[in-house]
Amino acid sequence: MSKFWSPQIHDLVPYTPGEQPKVADLTKLNTNESPYPPAPGVTAAVHQFDTDRLRLYPDPEAAELKQALAATYAVETNQVFVGNGSDEVLAHAFMAFFRQQKPLIKPSITYSFYEVYADLYGIELVNVPLTDSFEIDLERFPTENGGVIFANPNAPTGRALALERIEALLQRNTESLVLVDEAYVDFGGESAIALVDRYPNLLVTQTFSKSRSLAGLRIGFAIGHPDLIDALERVKNSFNSYPMDMLAIKAGVASLQDPAYFDECTQKIIATRENTAQQLAELGFKVLPSATNFLFAEHRYIEGGELMGFLRTKGVLVRHFSRPEIANYLRITIGTDAEMDRLISTLKQHPDIISLPVNAE
Ligand code: PMP
Repeated sequence: MSKFWSPQIHDLVPYTPGEQPKVADLTKLNTNESPYPPAPGVTAAVHQFDTDRLRLYPDPEAAELKQALAATYAVETNQVFVGNGSDEVLAHAFMAFFRQQKPLIKPSITYSFYEVYADLYGIELVNVPLTDSFEIDLERFPTENGGVIFANPNAPTGRALALERIEALLQRNTESLVLVDEAYVDFGGESAIALVDRYPNLLVTQTFSKSRSLAGLRIGFAIGHPDLIDALERVKNSFNSYPMDMLAIKAGVASLQDPAYFDECTQKIIATRENTAQQLAELGFKVLPSATNFLFAEHRYIEGGELMGFLRTKGVLVRHFSRPEIANYLRITIGTDAEMDRLISTLKQHPDIISLPVNAE
């Protein structure tokens, strides 16, 4: 703390990202990264990149990347916004749409960065509890609001809502922006991009960080009505004209050019997820159904924080959140089959874990 700080900075509670440890031989299942490398075309694009060009500023519009996204998602280029990770896209969306007289509505348990942005921009929040089975309860979202945001599939629960539930919300909620954060949609969710042409108040965000194995490059995007994109461009151009660097633009385009590799990686992760869920159930975990690249699970007898600590001492990192409603849960990223084997065999070393037949309710 220092007297030079702007007053608001004293009270900020920043987002805490998952640990990025420097230690070797860790199995890192704590930040929902992909265990597979980016598409081969990405590697080629980076190797072929002429570094002399780095003297120049990149295209402030990132037009090549926007065009490739528009082609991939069958929308117009003016329906696409790109940013430095979907975190930046979300930050700009909070600024562009949610600073209203009425509060922003969100599920009580969801991506914790939403609270941080709301705090940063002085936006009042209303939290709607999840159902007992950890589903987002859209039917209980009040229609009097200054905006709605949720992740679908949700994080850290992994549960997905069917598109018709989202469409029903859009039919009721016509007077404010509805933002659907689809960071994990490629692992089994249904994308609301299919609805953007019919609902001018719908904005969908996605990321290259998970299903495209490019968390290190920072590429996120939003798709919606051109008027919404316009607002995001205004904010972006009042903040940083060049959020997408040249390598991100080239590599991002190369990633979109290889849909077969993308399908192969997402399918492998889904298969590993289902297999891991089964094995965790056999070790006494209650595992929520997941449409993401992670599992959210609690053990019947062992406390979440303790299990996380135990795994950590054995070199396996998973994520644990301390808020009381979910303090017993672990969020476990899906890695390769070998990494998940290490998770399972490490769990079996815990003195209180015994293998149970799955139907031993
Ligand atoms: N939304 C959700 C729900 C997430 O879990 C994450 C990853 N932490 C993001 C958005 C942001 O991802 P990125 O900035 O890497 O695109």
